[in-house]
Amino acid sequence: METLKDIEAVLGPVPAGPIVGGQVAATAATLAVVDPATEETLTEIGVGDTDTGVAAVDAAAAAMSGWAALAPRRRSEVLRRAYELMTERGDALAHLIVLENGKALADARSEVAYAAEFFRWYAEEAVRLEGTVETAPAGTNRILVLRQPIGVSLLITPWNFPAAMATRKIGPALAAGCAVVLKPASETPLTALAIAAILGEAGVPDGVVNVVPARNADAFSSRLLDDDRVRKVSFTGSTEVGRLLLAHAARTVVSSAMELGGNAPFVVLADADLDEAVQGAMVAKLRNGGSACTAANRFIVHESLADEFSGRFATAMAELSVGPGVQPGNTIGPLVNAKTRDKVASLVQGAVDGGARTLTGGQAPDRRGYYYLPTVLGGVAQDAPILGEEIFGPVAPVVSFRDLDEAVSLANATEYGLVSYVYTTDLRAGLQVSERLDSGMVGLNRPVVSDPAAPFGGTKQSGLGREGGHEGMLEFTESKYIAVEW
Ligand code: NAP
Repeated sequence: METLKDIEAVLGPVPAGPIVGGQVAATAATLAVVDPATEETLTEIGVGDTDTGVAAVDAAAAAMSGWAALAPRRRSEVLRRAYELMTERGDALAHLIVLENGKALADARSEVAYAAEFFRWYAEEAVRLEGTVETAPAGTNRILVLRQPIGVSLLITPWNFPAAMATRKIGPALAAGCAVVLKPASETPLTALAIAAILGEAGVPDGVVNVVPARNADAFSSRLLDDDRVRKVSFTGSTEVGRLLLAHAARTVVSSAMELGGNAPFVVLADADLDEAVQGAMVAKLRNGGSACTAANRFIVHESLADEFSGRFATAMAELSVGPGVQPGNTIGPLVNAKTRDKVASLVQGAVDGGARTLTGGQAPDRRGYYYLPTVLGGVAQDAPILGEEIFGPVAPVVSFRDLDEAVSLANATEYGLVSYVYTTDLRAGLQVSERLDSGMVGLNRPVVSDPAAPFGGTKQSGLGREGGHEGMLEFTESKYIAVEW
């Protein structure tokens, strides 16, 4: 399945433009979708403008009351069917992700499994939307609290997990009874459109899920957030854009859930098992080729282990095979575009200019496609600029520390707070450090935290709210309190 045509033969046709009210909407403009492995255009699709966005809100508003009134069991069954269809067509979807995003096929396959799991999990949650009844302290009445769907929701997703970031929002929104307008990233619109087609086939009524690739993301979201019918914005992307959206949302006081950038520390304590720490470092760094908000971004290693850790890590990174993601032997595909690759290259150059040693990699290979070699930088200064930026590529700076307080203070020295990783053989120390780390999630002797059953999200400028778990569905509801006497 190397071409879009091969993929569509298995997956079914990928809609060639915005899906509004169950139909492909006519558009005035088109967008070229590029394969990052070849730098060639895969296809052109129609992109919407603000009018398309308003039409999508019209469709969502019209469809929402029927969807919300449907029995939760029925909504659950539709989501379950979507999980089954996504799983049956998982391989074709994974190939589609590789084509437009570039990631390695193994990463794309695990993304599809993870993405589909949100539909299964929220199929199970849809029938568990509970409320509460209490006796008022004065004894005069009851306090009845219901959870109701919040309303039409605007979902905006990034390119790095084009399937999972969409399903992590659509699943809970649909379970709660909301209708949505999803704007996917311009680099990767095809996966979201293919998922919309699957949802239609699974029985989601027209208008409940609208997907609009859009030409001008700022104008598009701004217009939709000015529409009184839009009551939720759920965004995953950079902190910079998150701040803009929060400012837009303030105008109409729209409930906002923000999954933003990260700068994850990977802390290796003096008693860590080095084999486990290096294996964990490889996974925490390289999931998605390093283009993950959860990617370990800074390796903070006890000074007694730093050289040994860096050497072993560099050896393992040097053995990776870099090339087109579609070839199963390649573990590192290209980055998504030239801008992302150039940013990675300039961060590495800055670190080297500041005295860091390149233990492996340190350059873009001389080939077509937006590749960057897996890189380990040793002896990075504690105040090096690379430690303050989200790298978003296969680059690992290693910095050393002397004692626990210094490790915690280095780890927390960032405006981000999405996830931290800790490696130690002393569980007590590991839990103590985990409590002191200022992040929404911690991987303790574990390099992956993402799980549809767990609340995913960050502290500080990594975001607001949580996705996944029961909390993820509550984000798409509002409490209704009824004071009642009986
Ligand atoms: P991005 O540039 O912020 O874009 C994300 C989405 O926002 C895209 O759909 C983009 O549309 C849209 N957008 C861009 N400018 C906008 C504006 N002014 N107003 C409204 N929408 C706008 O992020 P990215 O480069 O795609 O993704 C990488 C970032 O996402 C990283 O910072 C990463 O950490 C973060 N991320 C966070 C999580 C998490 O769960 N915390 C998960 C994954 C990724 P266009 O593509 O059309 O410009």
